[in-house]
Amino acid sequence: MSMSHLLSIEDLDRAAIERIVSQAERFAEVADREIKKVPALRGRMVLNLFYESSTRTRSSFELAAKRLSADVVNFAAGGSSVEKGESLKDTVLTLSAHRPDVIVIRTPWVGSAELVSRWCNAAVVNAGDGKHEHPTQALLDVYTLRRRLGALDGMQVWIVGDVAHSRVARSNIIALQRMGAKVTVAGPPTLIPRDIEAMGCEVRYTLQEMHRADVVYALRMQLERMTDSLVPSRREYAAWYQINSRRLRPRQLLMHPGPVNRGVELAGEIVESPRSLIAAQVEAGVVVRMAVLYELLSGARPAEKPSLRPAPEPQPA
Ligand code: ASP
Repeated sequence: MSMSHLLSIEDLDRAAIERIVSQAERFAEVADREIKKVPALRGRMVLNLFYESSTRTRSSFELAAKRLSADVVNFAAGGSSVEKGESLKDTVLTLSAHRPDVIVIRTPWVGSAELVSRWCNAAVVNAGDGKHEHPTQALLDVYTLRRRLGALDGMQVWIVGDVAHSRVARSNIIALQRMGAKVTVAGPPTLIPRDIEAMGCEVRYTLQEMHRADVVYALRMQLERMTDSLVPSRREYAAWYQINSRRLRPRQLLMHPGPVNRGVELAGEIVESPRSLIAAQVEAGVVVRMAVLYELLSGARPAEKPSLRPAPEPQPA
């Protein structure tokens, strides 16, 4: 199966996830070189179109494209000055005149990446569409866990916190289950969607049984997506659901997609603890996004291995 877009993790079966993760493992070797660049996508253009703030995702897509020798154009729409609907379409149509090969798009609107894929000829990567999906986050989380633990089959993962507003939770529930893990979501009832069990996971409203988890995946409280106050206070939330060194067992691994609200969903002391994979997740972001860009742009030649020779130095004109 070759991909023409990456809009949802739903579109990837286990074999496709494994193929991308394995390709990312091959690209990890490039990151250890002195010259961290290969010519695989030379002459291709990647357009980063971000309507919502981003630190890790945008920087790692940019770096991923550059390490593959693609050209990168970054477009950041200042939040309040951009409207949805026509203006998103107009922006895409305008920037399409530059003939990008890939458009990486993040917006606060569910379904926006899919819309963009209908408006242009580029391969589209969903880098987060509102509370719907964030497929490359799920891929980099699978990569991170596989590197640390090997196979994910039978592994117990607890996803804790604001599941209702989290695209990371949705994409991860799907990806982790496809890789054979068992997923439990836990948090206050107001932050757990009613129909989440239909996705095949278990639901808990307390952390009492969290000792069963092999991996605890904490989520940020997505205040920007809450219309009402869904928890009494951050302090009360922390008292019940904060992951701290008392609640996390020594053998359990900790993950978080960032940005972390220290003192809310995570106690500051465990962010950099040896049990934390948070820095490894960020590092994984670059190689996994290299693999996604490569997969999209080499779709017509699925059997071909990327050239991992260093990119030649540019010659003076
Ligand atoms: N960075 C992740 C996202 O964009 C998680 C978060 O913002 O809490 O969805």
